[in-house]
Amino acid sequence: MLDLPSLESFASLHNLREAHLRSLYNHLLRGGAAGCGAASARPFPGVEELAAKLRACSRAPFPRAAALALSSQFAPATSSVVFASPSSGGAKLKVSLAGGAFVETVLIRHASSRSPTGRRYTVCVSSQSGCARRCSFCSTGTMGLRAQLSGAEILEQVLHAQAYLKSIDEPPSSLTNLVYMGMGEPLDNMPAVLESLRGLTHQSLFGFAPRRVTLSTVGASPARIRELADAAPGINLALSLHAANETTRERIMPAARAADFGELEAALDYWAGRSGRGAMLEYLVIPGVNDGGEDARLLADFVRRREEGKKSGASVNLIPYNPTLAGEQFLFESPSDEAMVGFKAELGRWGVGGVIRWSTKGGRDVGGACGQLVVEGEGGG
Ligand code: SF4
Repeated sequence: MLDLPSLESFASLHNLREAHLRSLYNHLLRGGAAGCGAASARPFPGVEELAAKLRACSRAPFPRAAALALSSQFAPATSSVVFASPSSGGAKLKVSLAGGAFVETVLIRHASSRSPTGRRYTVCVSSQSGCARRCSFCSTGTMGLRAQLSGAEILEQVLHAQAYLKSIDEPPSSLTNLVYMGMGEPLDNMPAVLESLRGLTHQSLFGFAPRRVTLSTVGASPARIRELADAAPGINLALSLHAANETTRERIMPAARAADFGELEAALDYWAGRSGRGAMLEYLVIPGVNDGGEDARLLADFVRRREEGKKSGASVNLIPYNPTLAGEQFLFESPSDEAMVGFKAELGRWGVGGVIRWSTKGGRDVGGACGQLVVEGEGGG
């Protein structure tokens, strides 16, 4: 049902108006898809029930013939949640795709004084099952690329996340932000990601403000950063930098060999020009690999170059490396909290502020923290 091009073709074929599509989306988002743990790929209920529900959702009477055709041609979702693992930082959902592959979707909990439940959530969606980029610290990379998700499969993860929140809280906590930081390199699945962005920000569908959506990339393809800047300049872009020394960066992120800093920074300039904002910089701190004094100085130089001409102070997100089987092969260890604070202080000596993202440790207890997503039993390690 979240296959927007197919749905739009269907609407055109059956002379459905925008109001009818709004009815459909309302129905879907208000519980048309099954809850967590159930098979979401079930067919719609009987056509009479569907037509009645659609009519209840809108002032536009839904044509019976169209409801009948819809009921036989579309399911609310093609993927389903296999199981949900609550964690110290939120939850992780294992999602089964129609083609047989699996992905993981992570819910990150935040305290919120404005929510009746006292919390709100960010959903971290996957854009690929596995990933071809094979970053040395990331378990997903050990799987290789298993499958490209469709736009609908990316959007369905939001539906599953909403259903999960409904199952644990009444009223459900709100899902306020979305990040493309799950399995996969989003810019390696550009058409589907752009399609999903259309559904996410569609006012009759999920209605996320673009500023609440962040796409994270390793930056291996400057051309795709430019393409994204043209197609979706309203969202936030995050660059996984992880080393400001090209040799170190290429060692821990082999994909970085595809573009040197000159090409990458030119693409980031283009992004800044189109979006009016710089890309956020992410830096995974790995003791003995990229946390020395010289690393801090080079990082400060890089951050300052990115922030040139801006009035606000330069900053970078510092993320503690989470233990992964992938990183174990390189003897990577997690930094202590004191080491994180020390690296931030070192950066500060060079006039650059760092924000330590402690929340990225949340989910370690269920393998749902940054870099830990992998579908076990699928050859991923
Ligand atoms: S960090 Fe991202 S790009 Fe690198 S292997 Fe993992 S999922 Fe792929």
